[in-house]
Amino acid sequence: MPEMRPLREATICAMGAKDQPHGVVTPPIYQTSTFRFNSTEEVAAYARGESDKFLYTRYGNPTWEHPESTLATLEHGARAFLFASGSAATAAWCHAHLRPGDRLVAASQLYGGTAYFLQQYLKPAGIIIQQVNFADLSQVEAALRGARACWFETPTNPTVRVVDGPAVAALCRRHGVLSAVDNTFATPINQKPLDCGIDWVMHSTTKYLNGHNDLIGGVLIASKDVDPEPVAAARRGIGGIMDPHAAFLLDRGLKTLALRVERHNSNALSLALYLGTKTGVAHVHYPGLPEDPGHAVAKRQMRGFGGVLAIDLAGGYEAVARFADRLRIINNAASLGGVESLISLPILTSHVHASEDERREAGVTDGTARISVGIEDIDDLKADVDQALSAI
Ligand code: PLP
Repeated sequence: MPEMRPLREATICAMGAKDQPHGVVTPPIYQTSTFRFNSTEEVAAYARGESDKFLYTRYGNPTWEHPESTLATLEHGARAFLFASGSAATAAWCHAHLRPGDRLVAASQLYGGTAYFLQQYLKPAGIIIQQVNFADLSQVEAALRGARACWFETPTNPTVRVVDGPAVAALCRRHGVLSAVDNTFATPINQKPLDCGIDWVMHSTTKYLNGHNDLIGGVLIASKDVDPEPVAAARRGIGGIMDPHAAFLLDRGLKTLALRVERHNSNALSLALYLGTKTGVAHVHYPGLPEDPGHAVAKRQMRGFGGVLAIDLAGGYEAVARFADRLRIINNAASLGGVESLISLPILTSHVHASEDERREAGVTDGTARISVGIEDIDDLKADVDQALSAI
């Protein structure tokens, strides 16, 4: 075989599975909870760890193999593990690596559900949670001394703030702290945290990786420098696994990831620039805008700026509620990263449990809306925001 240069991402995404029974291009769904063995000796070989057969779907299912290998390849990781949701993946990672008395340094700007899990479940289990502002690297470095692990996201949900990933990775390595990044907003097409020395990446696959707003899922991807076994054991032991049907849908969604992200990036940049010219829009949060505080760092570490933006309307809650109610193409729905554009008001969704302080820290006001810009025609999206803004 002649040597080939490494494949580009669009090819990795679109490529069918090799070596499948019957030569199928699309791997089938193995919708089974359990697997038959031909003899007790085969089961005994499995129990001794001498067999690559499957025993029971909570321990492993062949439908996972293709999406897991695609995701590990796209993130330049060593192994990927699918989960029932992004939240299940986050919880499994924490349970795998943290014991009572350990300290977790986490960003103060996190997806509300992650912050809720850390404070309501991990803290009562005896883990010390220290949330600091990751825009200030001196605060991060001070917190990392003596810590066990570090968790942050970039860009952040919902106001798309950017954290300097390579700088945080270097600090974690200097202080011997295990690091993880929630890469849901960026996707591996726009940013690859493992390349800059981060140990683990997490995604809610509910979002861009699947891309069609029709499943809930999560994934953890290990770099080659870490032991993946604790996460494998936590998935088996806690049991937040991805159903085979969801894994099949995810595999299908991944085929178009590179193509979709390209369109999300260009639509979001175009809509962000457009919204910035509109009366009544007090502020547009989007790292692709030159005046955005995260722009310089985003330009260094991202290939595209992603498909999510946030706006603050001058008229506060009343104005933003009217705006959302008037939109015809952009759906008033939680979640993000699908082909359909969605709008959601963080004070009613991701930050409904957040305190006043946490909202202020995240830049969430009564008039903030997060828009996940889909892959529709950009002129239709602009017309939709125009007609909705005219109502306020
Ligand atoms: N991380 C981010 C950045 C998210 O936006 C979300 C969900 O909105 C999650 C994690 C949790 O993912 P899931 O809803 O799949 O549990």
